[in-house]
Amino acid sequence: MTDKQLQDLVSYLIKNKYRVHSHKEIDGEILIDEIYEGKNFELCPQRPLYSFKKFLLPPCQTMMKFKNNKTIGVKNPDTKTILLGIHFYDLKALTLLSQVFEKDPYFQKKLRNMMLIGQSPIPAKDEDYQKFEEDILEHLKFDIFLETKSNNNQKSFRIFTGSEDGQRLLDNFGYKDYEHIEYAGPVPEEGLNITQKSLIEKIFKSKGSKIWKELNKKCIDCGKCSIVCPTCFCFKISDEIKKDKIVRKREWDSCFYEEFSEVSGEHKFLDSTEDRIYNWYDHKFVRIPKEYSMPGCVNCGRCTEVCPAGIDIRKNIKRIIEEN
Ligand code: SF4
Ligand code: SF4
Repeated sequence: MTDKQLQDLVSYLIKNKYRVHSHKEIDGEILIDEIYEGKNFELCPQRPLYSFKKFLLPPCQTMMKFKNNKTIGVKNPDTKTILLGIHFYDLKALTLLSQVFEKDPYFQKKLRNMMLIGQSPIPAKDEDYQKFEEDILEHLKFDIFLETKSNNNQKSFRIFTGSEDGQRLLDNFGYKDYEHIEYAGPVPEEGLNITQKSLIEKIFKSKGSKIWKELNKKCIDCGKCSIVCPTCFCFKISDEIKKDKIVRKREWDSCFYEEFSEVSGEHKFLDSTEDRIYNWYDHKFVRIPKEYSMPGCVNCGRCTEVCPAGIDIRKNIKRIIEEN
C-alpha cells in the first residue's frame, strides 16, 4: 500500500462515519488526536507520550447510576472508532489489558466498537522478519497491521489483517493485497521465556536489598510513571451523590499514592516509598507474568521519560539481574 492509498483509506473511513484517532505532531510533541481528513495524513513513526490505553480504559468512566433504589442505564454511544498507527509494543499492552479485562463489560464493549490498526518498521533481516510474524504478530490483537518501509523518502506498507473485521474493511475499501495472520492467542505456546522466568526469581530475591533503599530516597511518589504506562490498569471506584441520583465512577489510580493501599482503620499495606516502588516492579515482573504468562512491561520507556527523579526502569532491571 502506498502513502497515497493510506490517505485514501483514512478518507474512506471518515466518510463511513468512523472516528479516526492517530498520532499528530503538535508544537513538536507527538500526541494522539482525531483525524478529520485523509488528505496529507502521514503516519508518525515515533511513539506518543500517552498511549491509546485511554480509549479502552478512560481516566474517568461512569459505570452506573442509581435512583430510588433502581439502577438507571448509562448512555454510552456506540461510536465506531479506529485507532490508527499503534506501535507494536502498545498493541502488546492492549493485548495484556484485554486479558486482564476479559470479563469486564465496559472494556469489552469499547473493544467491540474499535478497530485496532498497528504499525512497525519492516525488520531489516529476513530471519528477523519471519520471527516477527511468528513470534510477535501472531500473538497481538489487531485488525490491520502496517509494516512500513521507506525507500528514498517514499513510504510504503506491507499489509496484514488479524481479524475478519479487518479483512472486511479492506475488502469494502477495495484493497486486496494483504496477508491474513490468524491470532494464536496472547501467549506463545512455550509461555514465558528463560529471561522472563529468571526475572521473576530475581525480583523476588531482591526484596529488601540496597536498590530499593536507594529508590526509596529518590522516588517522590508522584505516580507519573504509572499514569503514562500503557499496561498500568489500577483504578478506584467512588459513588458521588448528584441531586437525587448516585453516580458510580471508576477512575485511574496509582499504587504510588499513599491512600492506594489504605484499608479501614487507616492501615496501609504499602506503608513506605520502598514498599510502593517494589510493589510496582513486583506487579509488572512477578505477579502479572505468573497470572497471564506475559510480562507487565512492554519496554516502551515512557516511565523513564517522565520521571522527575531520573529513575530508569531499564537500568534498574539490569542491576537487579546482575546483583541477584
Ligand atoms: S517501560 Fe515503563 S511505562 Fe513502558 S510498559 Fe514498562 S513500566 Fe510501563
Ligand atoms: S515517576 Fe519517578 S518519582 Fe514519580 S512515582 Fe514514578 S518512579 Fe517515583
